[in-house]
Amino acid sequence: MPPRSWRDTGWKGKRMPQPVKLHRGGCLCGEVRYSVAEAPLYSGICHCRTCRRIASATTLPYVVFPARTFVFASGTPRRFASSANVIRTFCGSCGSPLTYQNTTERDTIDIMTISLDDPEVYRPLAHVWVSAKVGWDVIGDDLPQYQEGRPVDDQTPSSS
Ligand SMILES: [Zn+2]
Ligand SMILES: [Zn+2]
Repeated sequence: MPPRSWRDTGWKGKRMPQPVKLHRGGCLCGEVRYSVAEAPLYSGICHCRTCRRIASATTLPYVVFPARTFVFASGTPRRFASSANVIRTFCGSCGSPLTYQNTTERDTIDIMTISLDDPEVYRPLAHVWVSAKVGWDVIGDDLPQYQEGRPVDDQTPSSS
């Protein structure tokens, strides 16, 4: 996944603070669990070769969250440098890919959408790295398709 930028979505102090929703997830076998107490910033579907290989699937959907409240609540994931400046985590027992973080953008962390407990609510906003898509993988929705990473002007916050 490429470098990206985002709008400051912080609370501006005009209203009473709302209870913070805790987003939880983990791996298939249950050994590794995580939580993040921030609203998601973006949701996408990546077709890049690295994500495909990590997932052993045609795509790897991801949700971008602010990183500061992200914690592994139980278990210790394996860490893996999938490219320069990129650390991914996965469960060492069952293999589920869990997170992606660019070490030059430590303010955010990408969580693999399907590892979240309720993936239904993180509806994707676009396909990225469509230039790397497998030929027989036919995209069947009307979402924007970016040939490479998400353009910096696409800063639509995720709806959930
Ligand atoms: Zn990717
Ligand atoms: Zn596991």
